[in-house]
Amino acid sequence: TAFSFFPIINHRLHSCNFFLSPIAAHSHIIFHLCLCSAEFPDLRKHNNCMASNLTPAIYAKLCDRATPNGFTLDEAIQTGVDNPGHPFIKTVGMVAGDEESYEVFADLLDPVIKERHNGYDPRAMRHPTDLESSKIQSGHFDERYVLSSRVRTGRSIRGLSLPPACTRAERREVERVVVDALSGLKGDLTGKYYSLTQMTEKEQQQLIDDHFLFDKPVSPLLTCAGMARDWPDARGIWHNNEKTFLIWVNEEDHTRVISMEKGGNMKRVFERFCRGLKEVERLIQERGWEFMWNERLGYILTCPSNLGTGLRAGVHVKLPLLGKDPRFSKILDNLRLQKRGTGGVDTAAVGGVFDISNLDRLGQSEVQLVQTVIDGVNYLIECEKRLEKGQDIKVPAPIKLFK
Ligand code: ADP
Ligand code: MG
Repeated sequence: TAFSFFPIINHRLHSCNFFLSPIAAHSHIIFHLCLCSAEFPDLRKHNNCMASNLTPAIYAKLCDRATPNGFTLDEAIQTGVDNPGHPFIKTVGMVAGDEESYEVFADLLDPVIKERHNGYDPRAMRHPTDLESSKIQSGHFDERYVLSSRVRTGRSIRGLSLPPACTRAERREVERVVVDALSGLKGDLTGKYYSLTQMTEKEQQQLIDDHFLFDKPVSPLLTCAGMARDWPDARGIWHNNEKTFLIWVNEEDHTRVISMEKGGNMKRVFERFCRGLKEVERLIQERGWEFMWNERLGYILTCPSNLGTGLRAGVHVKLPLLGKDPRFSKILDNLRLQKRGTGGVDTAAVGGVFDISNLDRLGQSEVQLVQTVIDGVNYLIECEKRLEKGQDIKVPAPIKLFK
């Protein structure tokens, strides 16, 4: 390339400040661009959202910047550089290290957010929040098909760095603040915190196998983003006695708040989710802390794919015939649904059982997204029943959003 005469130069050199004449300043800029070009990651085999939006010009503009906590562009994109694609979903390919990342790296994050969130414009639009579960229509699935129902979100504690960048002290502070607040939950939400460091290997594996606990930090999406540092320090799970309301501490987000139960009563799961989440927020605020939030991006989380509501409402559903039909992916896309395996995001579906959940998180409220899942999953079940009877199925028209 034109810049090959600068083969090996420490990339930190270009931030040196020395007095420059106009001509020297000009060559300094060229020198800077050469160095940025020398540092530009090889993204030729990549298909994640970061890779589709990162240009040499954006890289040159942002590569010397850091958030007030010192989080850099290279740290933000490393997971997407190391993971060119994902077999089941198009990943985002970058993470935030703190709340400020979304402002400091907006030149890259805004187009990534727009691509990932179905055209949502983070500069011009406002994100709605609605946790009124009584608005949900027909939220009880046919239990011959739906095995379990679950709603989760994430919440971050303002003022503490996110898992890709937090220090050990910050991570322990998150755990302290959250566990202290959760001790205030009452009634059917009363529960207890189980630290990963105090759990036996067997107890941990049992919680994973029962779908209550996050997986071991084996996913390269997690490890390449720096989120598995110091594992298992300051990680754990809080849950109520029935294991229907659960809070993960310091996995991919400061907290993940989950409501789940066996069977198909999504309305009840969402009702407990809304009630529990509001109560957790109140308890956190009572102690002088608050969640990261703004009106453009909604709730701020580590992965840009989770901005807005952070909500993933999903079911484990048996679709052995539809799951093998070539139209399945198109139907899911058009209904704004995503499929995963039942062992989590990194697993393939077995025995025709899929984890089906909403694809979108941002620009629509919690109520709207849960309703999309209810209507969409009911449509999938209707398709499965038609296929059982040897009848034909239709690909529904795509749901259009913000366009
Ligand atoms: P998340 O998006 O919440 O991080 P993952 O795909 O990483 O979800 O899965 C986390 C765990 O939650 C896995 O053990 C998975 O089996 C479980 N899980 C997800 N959805 C459901 C569901 N509808 N019913 C039961 N377990 C579920
Ligand atoms: Mg996960």
